[in-house]
Amino acid sequence: HAKHSGRNAHRFFTEQMNVQAVEHMHLETRLRRALERSEFVLHYQPQIDLASGAIVGVEALVRWQSPDHGLVAPAKFIPIAEETGLIVPLGKWVLGEACRQASAWQAAGLPPFSVAVNLSGVQFRRSDLLETVINSLVLADLDSQWLELELTESILIHDAEATLDTARRLKAIGVKLSVDDFGTGYSSLAYLKRFAVDKLKIARPFVRDLVSNADDAAIVRAIVQMAHALKLRAIAEGVEDAEVAAQLRLCQCDEIQGYWIARPMPADALAAFVLGRQPA
Ligand code: C2E
Ligand code: MG
Ligand code: MG
Ligand code: MG
Repeated sequence: HAKHSGRNAHRFFTEQMNVQAVEHMHLETRLRRALERSEFVLHYQPQIDLASGAIVGVEALVRWQSPDHGLVAPAKFIPIAEETGLIVPLGKWVLGEACRQASAWQAAGLPPFSVAVNLSGVQFRRSDLLETVINSLVLADLDSQWLELELTESILIHDAEATLDTARRLKAIGVKLSVDDFGTGYSSLAYLKRFAVDKLKIARPFVRDLVSNADDAAIVRAIVQMAHALKLRAIAEGVEDAEVAAQLRLCQCDEIQGYWIARPMPADALAAFVLGRQPA
């Protein structure tokens, strides 16, 4: 009897695995097709300078506009794109599109602001990242000072010579680098010395409970102070209300990004948002 149920359990287990593998395969095929059919779109979320209130940048966030599933969030497909290597062509498209859009906004007469693009480790380790970045800038006719690349701590921690070299070259052509989700990845700060990053993006978990949690407040204050001592800017992610924004101002945080300012939105809505906020 035991043997019997054991076999059943085993069969059930492998069937489960097959279902997962098939779903995974379907998704990979669908993502590949989505790329060919240009079903990916970028939404943009404003980044505000706390002192002046000016929009100093936007973060480009990819979505999949699926005919079957509607707007699909990156958490649903970025991990699979990374596993399958599809992140490389997808990431190329994101870079090209973000640069093209930033240039188009400037050409349309909007005050210039930077556009931040998220990079995966896979992309960063590819030797042609620099070439891809330069091609995107040239094709879009965008000055490199307006492009910012968001790196994760996991990219920076594996500071192989190649990674360091790529980062140096990107800096040399004038591209800005920031550390995304700062504080959540690793406790090593050595990479801040080795990599000439420009900005720390304080991760949402510290920002969220800033008002109610004294420890989080202390951490945020310490990150901002360290950033300033290293001549970096600090931006808080995930700012959802006025109280948190006020607290961040007290902490002398430079910039904020979050639902309190605006949710990520399509390019045309972002342009209208920027124009609407300009002082009369
Ligand atoms: P991230 O780079 O840390 O981006 C911030 C995420 O927080 C975005 O989620 C944004 O919509 C969300 N967010 C912004 N403000 C608030 C807020 O006030 N409250 C809350 N609860 N959330 C807020 P999204 O767009 O779903 O992106 C999730 C992640 O997917 C990103 O996290 C990033 O790691 C990744 N991602 C997005 N686009 C790309 C891309 O083009 N390439 C790569 N490699 N990764 C991307
Ligand atoms: Mg980011
Ligand atoms: Mg991230
Ligand atoms: Mg982040």
